[in-house]
Amino acid sequence: MEKPTQEGLVYLVDPKWYEEHKKSLPDTLQARRCSSCQKKTSDKGGPAGGWEEQMKKIVECCSKKPTWFSSRTPALESAFRLILANSNRPLPFATLYEQITNLWSSGESPRYIAKEVLVKMLDMDDFYGIRSTSAVRTTP
Ligand SMILES: [Zn+2]
Repeated sequence: MEKPTQEGLVYLVDPKWYEEHKKSLPDTLQARRCSSCQKKTSDKGGPAGGWEEQMKKIVECCSKKPTWFSSRTPALESAFRLILANSNRPLPFATLYEQITNLWSSGESPRYIAKEVLVKMLDMDDFYGIRSTSAVRTTP
């Protein structure tokens, strides 16, 4: 068995992945906006702005709402939301894992996930466009 190297990885959502897979990142983000944002944008008819704009609003507004996370949020959905709430800055695996574990350990249905399992799930992701890169080039 190879030694796990997950500690050196950072994760981010790759907008190019969405282009390549003909998926709409703005729509994907739109679906995760809080109810008050949903109400506002549905009045205007459709997603407001590109993904950068959506993400900005998520960071400022939706990710701060109590409905953003629960202990029932699936693993990859949790990872996706954590990365978004971090403005899609590359998130180190250790941080991602710690935050998911914290979120899941509280609430009405506490859960636990092993590091190895989370890494595997992130690697196999073909739904959220989550990419891992080496942490070498993270912001100083
Ligand atoms: Zn909102």
